Amino acid sequence: MRDTFLSFSPPDIGEDEIQEVVAALRSGWLTTGPRVALFQEQFADFVGAPRALALSSATAAMHVALAVMGIGPGHRVISTPMTFTSTIHVIEQVGAQPVLVDVEADTLNIDPAKVESAIKSGNGAVRAIMPVHLYGHPAEMDPILDLARRHHLAVIEDAAHALPARYRGRLVGAPAAVEGVVNLTAFSFYATKNLTTGEGGMLTGPDEIIESARPWSLHGMSGDAHARYGSEGSWRYDVVLPGFKYNMTDMQAALGLQQLRRLPSLQARRFEIVARYNGAFGELDALEVPFVREHVEPAWQLYVLRLKLDRLQIDRARFIEELRARNIGASVHFIPVHLHSYYREKYGYRPEDFPVANAEYQRIVSLPLSPRLSDQDVNDVIEAVSDIVDRFHA
Ligand SMILES: *Cc1c(COP(=O)(O)O)cnc(C)c1O
Repeated sequence: MRDTFLSFSPPDIGEDEIQEVVAALRSGWLTTGPRVALFQEQFADFVGAPRALALSSATAAMHVALAVMGIGPGHRVISTPMTFTSTIHVIEQVGAQPVLVDVEADTLNIDPAKVESAIKSGNGAVRAIMPVHLYGHPAEMDPILDLARRHHLAVIEDAAHALPARYRGRLVGAPAAVEGVVNLTAFSFYATKNLTTGEGGMLTGPDEIIESARPWSLHGMSGDAHARYGSEGSWRYDVVLPGFKYNMTDMQAALGLQQLRRLPSLQARRFEIVARYNGAFGELDALEVPFVREHVEPAWQLYVLRLKLDRLQIDRARFIEELRARNIGASVHFIPVHLHSYYREKYGYRPEDFPVANAEYQRIVSLPLSPRLSDQDVNDVIEAVSDIVDRFHA
C-alpha cells in the first residue's frame, strides 16, 4: 500500500506556465489586457468558434449567457440534475425557473427523449436548454438541437468537463449551425479541470452574441480596462447595461495560454491513464467502466466507476472510505441537484422524481485522474480498487 495520500485531481503546472505568469507580473498589466485578448483568440481558434469571451469562471460564463439571451423572470430553462449545482444556480440567479429532466442510464447526460414533455408541462415559456457534457462525454446534441429548433430555444452548453471533446466530429465549443438556434458554450478553468487558470472560464459562440455578452462581463461598460488605460485609451466610457464583474485577469490568461499549448500532451496522458484503468477494471465483475458512445470523443475530465452493489458487501460510502484507508483520494460527481435542500424545499422534489439520476448516484465513484499521476500512482489506484473488490465481494 502507498505511504502518501494520492490526491484526487492535482493540477499539472509546468515551468512554462510559471514563466508566463512572471512575465505578466513584470509587464505591469495585471487585469484584463493583452494576454486575455490573445488567450481568447487562441482558445476560439482551438475549439473552432468564431469568438470567445474570457471570464472569471464557467459559472460566470453561464450567468452571462442567460443574461445576454434575455432570460429572466417568467422564463423556464431545461437542464439536468446530474451536474454541479452552479449550472442550476445561474438559472435561479436570473430569476428564471429550472426544469430538470432525468438522464440516460449509460452516459448520465440529459435524456433528449424526456425533454419534450418537460417543455410542454408547467407554466412559463421555456427559453433555453442547458445540456451538461458530464465527465467530458458529450451530451446527445443532434436531438437536443432539433428540439431547440422546433421550440425556439437557445442551447447553452455546460462544457466545464468537455475540453477538448467531439460530438460527431465537431469540437464542443464550435457553435452548431442550426437555423434559428443560438448556441453558446461555457468552459471552466477551475483548478481540477483539463485546462486550468486557477479560476477562470470561457464563453464561446457566434460573433455578435459574444460581442453583446462582453459588457455583461464588466459592469456593462463599453470597452475594457486595456481599452481605457492603454495608449489609445480614453477616459470616456458609457454604461449600457447593469453588468457583472466577471472579467478574467492577465495573470490567469498567462496560465491559460501555456496550458492551451500543452493541452494535447496533457490529454494524451489522461487517455493513457484511462486505458490503464479500463484494462484493469473491465476485468472485475463488481465494477462497470465508463460507457463511451461510438460517435463521440470524450475529454475524460473525470473517470467515474460504477459499483455493482449487488456484487459487493459494502456501499459506495464505505468503498470511498476503504480507498481513503489505502491512501487513495476519491470523490462523487455529483450529488444530484434535486437532492440538495434548497432545491428540494423550493420545488418539492423527491429523490425518485429523477429515478435514473437517483439510482446511478448511489453507485458512482470518481477515481484520481490527472496528467500529473505517475505510472506508480496509477498502479496504486488499480491495486487499491482491486483489493477492495476482492475483500468485499458478495
Ligand atoms: C466545475 C464545474 C462547473 C463550475 O465551473 P467554475 O469554473 O468553477 O464556475 C460547472 N459545471 C460543471 C459540470 C463543473 O464540473
